[in-house]
Amino acid sequence: MESIVLGSGSKGNATLIRSGRTTLLIDAGLSYRAMKRRLAGSPFSLTDVTAVLVTHEHTDHTKGLRMVMKEHRVPLYTAESVLAALPADVEVDEFVPIEPHVHQSVGDFEIYPVPLSHDTETTLGFVFFSEGKKVVYATDTGFIDEKLHPVFQNADAYILEANYDVTMLFTSERPYALKRRIDSVRGHLSNSDSAYYLSRFVGDKTRVIVLAHPSEECNTPERALATFREVFLSYDLSPADYEVHVARQHEPSKLFRL
Ligand SMILES: [Zn+2]
Ligand SMILES: [Zn+2]
Repeated sequence: MESIVLGSGSKGNATLIRSGRTTLLIDAGLSYRAMKRRLAGSPFSLTDVTAVLVTHEHTDHTKGLRMVMKEHRVPLYTAESVLAALPADVEVDEFVPIEPHVHQSVGDFEIYPVPLSHDTETTLGFVFFSEGKKVVYATDTGFIDEKLHPVFQNADAYILEANYDVTMLFTSERPYALKRRIDSVRGHLSNSDSAYYLSRFVGDKTRVIVLAHPSEECNTPERALATFREVFLSYDLSPADYEVHVARQHEPSKLFRL
């Protein structure tokens, strides 16, 4: 299995994951041009994409969707309520409805969609299974319900939101109502929330951790990593046992092979 995060943050999100002959695009929240440009030099191409999975309808996850669907005519997998909330100009040839907690086969992947807690009717996270490996993908959630913890346990890789540093958020110039929204149970995970959940989830198989969807205004890669280390050490876990990356808004991640 291999994966690359093309960009991640409140201005746009797109990730590719491949196993065997199946390449999935998770969210298309960057412009089509930006996605193409960021894939140059990688072993991935948008022409390899066999299906698109959309987590939710927010623009930072769907901005490039119209062009992807127009150019590649691949099936779209998402929840009914997300499809209904997409802009009218997104043409979908084949829609495959997916529901939280219902396993779904997509080519060489088995996918387990999970419900996240965000300010939309449905926001999905995904657990990908293939080649005996497991990858957890979850961003845009105010918290992670305890019911999901067993399925999130001991994945080979996590792409998990670490959106904001609590101090940077509350000392920022943002309107108070927006700060409350971000920090609410239907908002986003802070660096410390994220590190705490990861400390509960990691296991002997876990190798790669990507801290995702960072806020440009209320976070820095250094703070996200420092919080991760601090929290792991406080639970007697060794941060050095994992390959930890912070996804970036304006550049792709390295390619992760599992
Ligand atoms: Zn988002
Ligand atoms: Zn969102």
